[in-house]
Amino acid sequence: MPSHNLAYVKIDELEIIGYSVAAEETVIAIPQLDVCFDVGKAPDQIIPINNVLLTHGHMDHAAGIAYYLSHRHFCGQSPGTILAPENLLGPIREIISAWSRLDGNKIPANLVGVKAGDEYQIKPNLFTRVFPTKHSRGSVGYSVIEKRKKIKPEYAELTSVQIVELKKQGVEIDTPLEIPIVTYLGDTQLVDFSQLKYIVESKILIAECTFYEDEHTERADVGRHMHISEFANLVEKLNNEYIVVTHTTQRTPMRDVRRMLKETLPAGIYKKIILLMDKMPKRFHRPLYKPDVQCEGGN
Ligand SMILES: [Zn+2]
Repeated sequence: MPSHNLAYVKIDELEIIGYSVAAEETVIAIPQLDVCFDVGKAPDQIIPINNVLLTHGHMDHAAGIAYYLSHRHFCGQSPGTILAPENLLGPIREIISAWSRLDGNKIPANLVGVKAGDEYQIKPNLFTRVFPTKHSRGSVGYSVIEKRKKIKPEYAELTSVQIVELKKQGVEIDTPLEIPIVTYLGDTQLVDFSQLKYIVESKILIAECTFYEDEHTERADVGRHMHISEFANLVEKLNNEYIVVTHTTQRTPMRDVRRMLKETLPAGIYKKIILLMDKMPKRFHRPLYKPDVQCEGGN
């Protein structure tokens, strides 16, 4: 039985599995792209995914790093790749090293430090581009972009024989084409992402919208998260087909979150919204046990 019950969303050929509640845990994987955005507490379902794209070092997003790497090794898989803001590589190495000593087994890892503007190849035709966010020092977001080639218009009418001949002559008949598939913002304050075309045009946007009540505006500022008023401002400038809302707070019941999104967003945008935590499988039964202490943290 898996360690976690995870939300499940299917958009065309892509599946999004994950869990994202503010201050508790955030982990969102797209197995078909072989990426997992943040690692949360490393649920079993994401262990086989080869690339973890870490946005920042807060515990609710990064706690499972060592377990993810160690469990892959334990299961005979290749070392996992973790992309992380470059200022976090030192502490991540220390954690892995400390866990290796504690566990008595070396934990293999492929650590890649990234900063805004970097690109990293995931598969031959798929890469991720890193962009800055406003949350913690060095925090970043990731777009996953497919690279294709498109025939130049002047060659579009040619027969395949003519194309082969031109290629033999060394003529460049294609132009590179980028298709942004998904953008994950991680935790962030409002940033004008409309400046970045690959974010504007991403088919899927995965964005945090943590706070909803008017009196939570200041809370959003302090934690460097988005309030619904800022979220509305953000998505109105973008052109995504689907918007997956993550990092919802337990302070606001999900039915109120749904209602406030509907009241605040223009209808055309509201119909694109998918609330991740609304997509928990129904057959899972939560244990009756409820701890008395409510987590009030604000990571
Ligand atoms: Zn955070």
